[in-house]
Parts: sequence; C-alpha cells; structure tokens
Amino acid sequence: MKEDYMIYGDVVVFDTTHRTNKYNLICVPFVGINNHWKNVMFGCAFVTNEKTESFEWLFEVFKKSMEGQSPMTLFTYPDQAIGNAKRKVFPTTMHRLCIWHLYQSGVNEFEKLKANKFFHDAFQKCLTGCRNGDEFEKCWSSMVSIYGLQDNSWFKRLYDLRHKWSTAYNNDIFSAGILSSQRSESTNTTIGFNAKETANLNDLCIIFKNIVERWRSNERNDELQCSREKPTSCLPLTGFLKHASEVYTKTIFKDFEKEFLKSISTSIRFLSEEHDVKLYYVTVADEITSYQVNFNAVDFLVSCSCKRFEECGLLCCHCLRIMHVHSIPQIPECYIKRRWTKFAKQDLWDKSVSGRFEKGKNSATWRQKMVKKYYNLVLKDQENEEARAIIEDGLNAMTSALEALETTWQTRKATDETEISSSSYDMLDPSHSKGRKQRTDHLQKSKKKKTSDASDSNQ
Ligand SMILES: [Zn+2]
Repeated sequence: MKEDYMIYGDVVVFDTTHRTNKYNLICVPFVGINNHWKNVMFGCAFVTNEKTESFEWLFEVFKKSMEGQSPMTLFTYPDQAIGNAKRKVFPTTMHRLCIWHLYQSGVNEFEKLKANKFFHDAFQKCLTGCRNGDEFEKCWSSMVSIYGLQDNSWFKRLYDLRHKWSTAYNNDIFSAGILSSQRSESTNTTIGFNAKETANLNDLCIIFKNIVERWRSNERNDELQCSREKPTSCLPLTGFLKHASEVYTKTIFKDFEKEFLKSISTSIRFLSEEHDVKLYYVTVADEITSYQVNFNAVDFLVSCSCKRFEECGLLCCHCLRIMHVHSIPQIPECYIKRRWTKFAKQDLWDKSVSGRFEKGKNSATWRQKMVKKYYNLVLKDQENEEARAIIEDGLNAMTSALEALETTWQTRKATDETEISSSSYDMLDPSHSKGRKQRTDHLQKSKKKKTSDASDSNQ
C-alpha cells in the first residue's frame, strides 16, 4: 500500500460514509486511483466519532505511515471536522468535496425535484460542466431561479463552498480527473464495505482483506492485458495516437483518443505572436466557449486556459489541435504523466533495487524487482526489431556468463568436498545420527584425541 501511495498518492479519496458494524464504528478507507483508472487501497481505519481531533489524529498517523508525503488533492464528504483536520495536517493539500455525495444529497433534498430530469441536468452542469467562474455563475443563477432555491439553506451553503467542488474553480490542481469524470461515482460506490450490522472487527478485517485482494487481482489482469494487446482505435494508429497507444494503459488511451477526436472538429484563430510564443483561440464545434492556447514553437511547450492537463494529466483537444497544426510528431515527454502509463511502477522498482532494499538480503524482494524491470524492458521495446535483437543478444550473453559462473561454482564445490572427506573430522551422516548423546560422544572423542595429541607433543 505504501508503494502504491508513492505512485498514486497524489489524489486521495477519504470516505467516511461506511458505518455498518456491531460497534457503530466509522470505517474510513483511504482510496486512490491507479493507471487503469481503478481504485487502489492506501489504508483503512476505524474511528469512534467524527470530531476534529479524531480526524487530526487519523491524518497524522496516515501521513506518518506514508513517510510524511501529503496528497495534492483530498476528496472527502462535506464535513466541517474533516475540513479543520485537513487544514492542520495537510495544509498544502487542495480539499475537494466528492461530487457524487453532493449530487445524491442535492437531489434527495427536494422530494418534488427528485424525478425532474431538467433539474438533474442543471445541477450536474453546475457540478461538472462549467469551465470558468462566469459560466458557473450564469448556470447557478438560472437553476436557483427556475427551481425556486433562493431561500434554501442547503443550496446557500453549497454555493459558499463552490470553490471546493465545481469544475469551474481551482482546476489547475491535479485531481486525476475525478471532478469532471463520470467515474467519480464508481470511486465512491465500489469500495463495497457491505458488512452486516452484527459484523465485528475481525469480520471487517476479512472484508477489507478481500476487497484489497480483489482490487489487486483486477490490477494484475489489467497489467497483463496491456502487455499483451495494444489499444485499438477507429482512427489509424499514427503520430500522436500511435505514441499514446505505446505509452498509456488501455483505459487512459481511450480518454486520450476521445480528446484527439474532438480536436479534429475544432476551429482555430491565430491571435498574436510574442517572442517565440504564438497565441491562438480554439473552439470546439457546437460549443460557444473559446479557449486560449499558448504555443512555444521552440521547445514545444503548450498551455490552455481550460487547464485540462493540469487537472487530469492529459492534453486537451485544444492543445492537441495546435500541436497538430505545428506538425509535432509525438507527445512531448513533459506531457506524459508517468502515473497514467503502462510503466507507472517502473521508477519505484528502480529506486527499490538501487537503494531502499539491501541487495542479497532479501532474495524474494530482489527477484520481484528484477522480474518487473525485465518485464517493462521487454514491454517497452517489443515492437522494434532492432530493440528485440539487443534484448535477445543481451540475454544470450548473460546466459553464457551465468553458465561459466555455475561451472566455477561446481568446480569449487567439488574441491571443497574432496578436502572435507580427506580431513580428520569424523562427519556423521544425518540419517544415522542418534541425536545429542552421540554428538556429545563424538565431541568427547575429539576432545580425548586432542588431549592425547597434546600429550604426544609434550612428550
Ligand atoms: Zn484546452
């Protein structure tokens, strides 16, 4: 879990809504998102109450367990005590509210609006559909006036907290795309602590262990699939798409492909150029909002006012269009976020082998690291004939060197065995050994022999 946190701990979902158990304890899993956009478990705790000091203690313990590393973004249920604890323990972390909870609460708040599809859509638009403050304010005012929510305290409070949940605000901080993603629901619902009211701590531990095992098994299957098959596309896999299919996992590739397809239908307008930076306005067909893209033709650096890269870690359709116009052959390295790639765990394995784990002390750990390293090496260059030849030649050279080493060991072993058999020690065969007494007798014999040798030499 610590290893997973070192890779995917930039975003943490802290869910305090599981309470079903014998002691009415609150079960709080710390969950993240892996490179296949699936849940990964960082830890789990039980707290007896929802006071600020309880959450402070819990966050402190969690932070200490994770070598002091704080997440960039923490998603939680809307709760004052959690907010207070977060401010104290994770002061630099962006606090976000889980949209799924807000949506459920908002819709459940008004019985008469529960079945109103238009209200659902308007609320969803405010939650995830706005890209800037102006757009949000318009959508919110319209929803509040149409559905008569002006005097509703719940919605007033929600409006005050808008910077913590709407995609219109603070979208320049990485949140793994949870804010704007339909997948936020799955992050909250698949944790599945479906314990009975009579469940004790032991039962909950078993449930927790089973969940972790299931998630890890899914991860292994996803990794295997990504290593065996390349993603497919309705477009020819060339240029950016080819590069994306080589580096991203299948799920992330599909996200990238969606933006790539959108980029085809964009219209662009060149605005100005200052030094080497060109400024464009990019608009997606059928959309009113235009986004401002800055492109540096020297170092291929690009930035967009929609902030999708900052928020999700994937280039937006606006940037992709401008890069396409400038014939950039593949995705620049700085825009490939490692945590979304097939090689997300490789850095950690490298670090582990070179530093944290002492070589030779733990063969199982060393073996796992090396298997992973070789696996990633083969995976990375499997499509290139020259690279394949280098890998195969390297393997043949290593095999020969290891065979020579093995021969040396065998010779050394045989020499040692000859020396032992010709020595004066009377070694007992374990199958004929009669235990302590015989061994004592043998030691006494040796002692007598040594004594007689000593007396011989004294004579
Ligand atoms: Zn953009």
